[in-house]
Amino acid sequence: MNLLPFDRLPAHAPRRFVPENVAWGDWSQIAPLFDRLEARAARCANAGELERWLLDWSELSAALDEESSRRYIAMTCHTDNADAEQAHLHFVEKIEPHLKPRQFRLELIYLAHPLRVSLSEERYGVFARNTKVHVQLYRDANVPLETEEARLSQQYQKLTGSLTVQFRGEEKTLTQMVRYLEEPDRALRQQAWELAANRRLQEAGKFEQIFDQLLALRQQISKNAGFANYRDYAFRARCRFDYTPEDCLKFHDAVEREVLPALLDLQAERRRRLTLARLRPWDLAVDPLNRPPLRPFEQVESLVSNTNRIFDRLDGELAGGFKTLHDLRLLDLANRKGKAPGGYQSTLAEARLPFIFMNAVGVQRDVETILHEAGHAFHALATRDEDLHAYRHAPFEFCEVASMTMELLGNQFLETFYSPPDARRARRDHLEGILEVFPWIATVDAFQHWLYTHPGHSPPDRTAAWLGLMNRFGGEVDWSGCERARAHLWHRQLHIFLHPFYYVEYGIAQLGALQIWANAKRDPARALADYKRALALGGSRPLPELFSTAGCRFDFSAETVKPLIELVRQELAEPN
Ligand SMILES: [Zn+2]
Repeated sequence: MNLLPFDRLPAHAPRRFVPENVAWGDWSQIAPLFDRLEARAARCANAGELERWLLDWSELSAALDEESSRRYIAMTCHTDNADAEQAHLHFVEKIEPHLKPRQFRLELIYLAHPLRVSLSEERYGVFARNTKVHVQLYRDANVPLETEEARLSQQYQKLTGSLTVQFRGEEKTLTQMVRYLEEPDRALRQQAWELAANRRLQEAGKFEQIFDQLLALRQQISKNAGFANYRDYAFRARCRFDYTPEDCLKFHDAVEREVLPALLDLQAERRRRLTLARLRPWDLAVDPLNRPPLRPFEQVESLVSNTNRIFDRLDGELAGGFKTLHDLRLLDLANRKGKAPGGYQSTLAEARLPFIFMNAVGVQRDVETILHEAGHAFHALATRDEDLHAYRHAPFEFCEVASMTMELLGNQFLETFYSPPDARRARRDHLEGILEVFPWIATVDAFQHWLYTHPGHSPPDRTAAWLGLMNRFGGEVDWSGCERARAHLWHRQLHIFLHPFYYVEYGIAQLGALQIWANAKRDPARALADYKRALALGGSRPLPELFSTAGCRFDFSAETVKPLIELVRQELAEPN
């Protein structure tokens, strides 16, 4: 049974090295391919042959990557299907543990290869630098620990995806409950918020337990690799060559100094407009003028067609790419029970095609999400002609520039969904959301710095650290009576469980996206051309060069934060 939303995809190119009918769930069929690559490396007689060898290795990596993505996609589309879960787990538990040592051996062979020095430094410099990091960090002893880490991540996904509440006589997922937080009826909002928060709190013990296990595993992984703590390990493993933990701490300070005043102003204005004495947690998403929520679409078909019209207005090539995704059924957008929460873009590495997953329920947030994920998809499409698999994806700090820029540029044409006043309202909401999200990014990132530099902490210590950050960055919201929900709010943040330290990237990238948006205000054609040129570089260049090609600076100090926040505030100050 095909559990994927799409059928057979067109091949990007015929395979040259990997046989056509490999059963990817059977390690005995995969191992000989690694044997052949190992044996062949020694026989490479010139630089051209070594490059050919790299491309064959790349072809194998892409095929394996795609298989892993397919199983992941099937599982997240059907969290309640035992076969999908089993197929994913089988790959994670029975294939990946074999793959890692074999990939490691190929990396060693490559780095030690006598012909490597004859390859172009310009072309292979970034690849060699990243490969060296993998080799330095690789430990056989960590392979089973990473398998366990993936299993626990899946448990977290399954738990969050399974949570439902009874609301107005119907069973609703927690994702479906989010839209009620935009309802003008305050009692209704409160009821919806409390139902969802209490449902999560019922599982608080399980979330804490999953996290404690992840924490112990991660500490052991970093120790095995010779690091004093998991933070330092994660910075290296994520190939963060261009910034340090201290830069991140300075970024948190910059957010506190430059963004928090803007957040407090927004909250004060919201309180005034809603004529409330105090803002409660369920007052944060409703329109401050108590207008009914924006309803950009009822059916996902119109989400797709209107998004397509936005891209038509923006750029013919991008519009064509989006249409291809739709035609190949690489969009699974509607929310339904059994789907994992959230949204993501995944690349089918061999077909070199992107897939977009999300949980659309008919709110403006869905429009933001599809523009965001489409930005990632355009990034994948832009690198289709790159034959080195490792260069077909950029560092995350820049991946999020691709996606967040598309939110800002796409928003210029929201009239495809709305009347002009509603489109302006949606744009304002988005910009306010940007101001609001920086403090949350700082909170989540600072929390992770704390988590992994305080080994042996207890759950109550952890809660205290979290609450300290909520006090520092949360603004003025009255949580009285909801203290437990506030103390466990981080349970909702999937990255903390699944992708440790992958969060500051959103802050770094948002600053890049805001710079491109500012460029587009001056010269839209040039800004878009620079953006597309940078996307096409994939991961072949260092981070600062990707940013500069896109027309922005790689910097997240107060010096960069301050003027961009001012620009957003100016835009918000303009009359509607
Ligand atoms: Zn993203």
